[in-house]
Amino acid sequence: MYLSGIGFDSIAKTLSYENVPSPSMVAEKKKTSPYWHGSTIRYILTNPHYLGHTVQGRETTASVTIDSRIWLPKEKHIVVKDTHAAIISEHVFELVQDKIFKVKNHIPKAQTHLYTNYLFCKDCSASMWYRSNRTVYICGRYAKHGKKYCSNHTIKEEIITKAVISDIMQAVELIDNKHVRKELQRNNEVTLEHLSAQRQKLLDKVDKSNSLKRSFLRLLAEGTITSDDYQGETQLIDTQLIEWKNKLDKLSDVLNGLDVEYELRKFQYGYRQFFQDHQLTKKNLPQFINRIEVGEDKVPIITYRFPHLFSLLN
Ligand SMILES: [Zn+2]
Repeated sequence: MYLSGIGFDSIAKTLSYENVPSPSMVAEKKKTSPYWHGSTIRYILTNPHYLGHTVQGRETTASVTIDSRIWLPKEKHIVVKDTHAAIISEHVFELVQDKIFKVKNHIPKAQTHLYTNYLFCKDCSASMWYRSNRTVYICGRYAKHGKKYCSNHTIKEEIITKAVISDIMQAVELIDNKHVRKELQRNNEVTLEHLSAQRQKLLDKVDKSNSLKRSFLRLLAEGTITSDDYQGETQLIDTQLIEWKNKLDKLSDVLNGLDVEYELRKFQYGYRQFFQDHQLTKKNLPQFINRIEVGEDKVPIITYRFPHLFSLLN
């Protein structure tokens, strides 16, 4: 379903609607909910467990050398294949990972270098241009209009690259550290719980409104109310529904952003690509970076796509 373009939440809804027992029901947990959640679907779709393998060594103790670090070489994961029944094939699993995590590359402008499209002047927000004779990036506004419009902001490409790689390596070490992982998770749980409750309330309201709509439809079919009455009643409900659905979409975004496990898997996916390429490339860079700003001090301010993990750096 996911590969055909249906989102996590819609899949969850379909499973709930078709009365497929939810994981918490199957596990006979105390707080069972008959409903599936989008986050459960996402968890299942990114967990190699469902390939039928038992994977060890995805998380491991901190180590000094890059080679022995866990996330990286997928080949080094200890995979005991076919320990249980697979519910998803290897090929489909890889396709799903690509669809979930792969960042679509920007359409490159005429002449592009590694950081073109990501690099901006901190003071005037102009994008920075690559000057190949000096292997530096320079504020586009300054380059075009001169001193009157901005000052001479420049930065060497290798300085940014060094900073990014050092940050990535630090992040890998953080992930290796079980305490850090726990702390990340704990910080999140409270907020997650609060927002999930908010989300559930909205979902209940949507359900109630939908069943109200159905009852009006029934009344209309029975001839108890006129179609004008029906229109009047359902129009109000529809306006309300649109508002709630917008709120739900926003909440889903926030919830996804808060989900530390998801963030760590996203990082792991990007790191795997980086590790295979042995360097930062136009293909793997977007997995990590949102934006880089450079001020007159020539220190790059890098915004990563992993707010929780990278907030712990330095
Ligand atoms: Zn500038």
